[in-house]
Amino acid sequence: MSAVEVSHLSFSYDGQNDVIKDVSFEIPKGSYTTIVGHNGSGKSTIAKLLIGLLKAKSGEIKILGNTLNEENVYSLRNHVGIVFQNPDNQFIGSTVADDIAFGLENHCVPQEQMQAIIEDVAARVNMSDFLDSEPTKLSGGQKQRVAIAGILAIAPDIIIFDESTSMLDPQGKASINEQIQKLHDERNITILSITHDMEEVAQSEYVIVLKDGKVEMQGTPKQIFEHKGKLKEMKLELPFALSFSEKLKNEGIFKDSYCTLDEVVNELCQ
Ligand code: ADP
Repeated sequence: MSAVEVSHLSFSYDGQNDVIKDVSFEIPKGSYTTIVGHNGSGKSTIAKLLIGLLKAKSGEIKILGNTLNEENVYSLRNHVGIVFQNPDNQFIGSTVADDIAFGLENHCVPQEQMQAIIEDVAARVNMSDFLDSEPTKLSGGQKQRVAIAGILAIAPDIIIFDESTSMLDPQGKASINEQIQKLHDERNITILSITHDMEEVAQSEYVIVLKDGKVEMQGTPKQIFEHKGKLKEMKLELPFALSFSEKLKNEGIFKDSYCTLDEVVNELCQ
């Protein structure tokens, strides 16, 4: 069964001009998919459609096999968590622990189980020392980690990251990308990440490229990175590992080119 199945989805904000145009894609359960595209290509609109914040003009969205409609939108939201670009708008509690507890209360988790869950999810995102801190006073990367902890506590099947790392410095980005990879590898959560970060795209399993509200290309990172001209047109840069390993391949030093730094290291250590 697919985690998400989108068929012939169209949407317009003003009832006239479609900003999502006949979009179809499928996200297998447990996979790690990224959506990339220029500003205004419709990425965030798709995220909002997937969690039922916006209503499609036509087409169908299936979450875990169930067609999203007005009746089941709230129950399906128990299965889909979303981490926004600016998590400040997502914080409700005055401390990190309260904030995570609030989500658990909403999901009717018994009081006696809460403390253990809060401690577990805080540890998973390396925020155990910050449980008494005020979320809004944390750094950008720490805020993102708290937002992820809040979502993890509810244990959804699918997590959508909507440009969650775009406001972070390179170190913050790398740390969140590592968290995302861990969620995928260790907990088998389906990840859908909307991103500008081509290093993150390289670490995902499947990529959907949007252009002007349409799917321009989809495939594995390696397949997508072969379309260098198209990516350049869309101002999407190749990841560093790929440019670097292609140079070494051209020099005859590497036998292949690689998308991620891990793959480059593997090649070097052979
Ligand atoms: P992206 O996330 O790829 O930057 P968006 O989904 O935010 O793109 O936007 C897609 C299109 O919809 C753009 O043309 C944008 O101007 C338009 N748009 C986004 N939000 C609104 C809104 N609330 N009202 C009207 N138009 C909007």
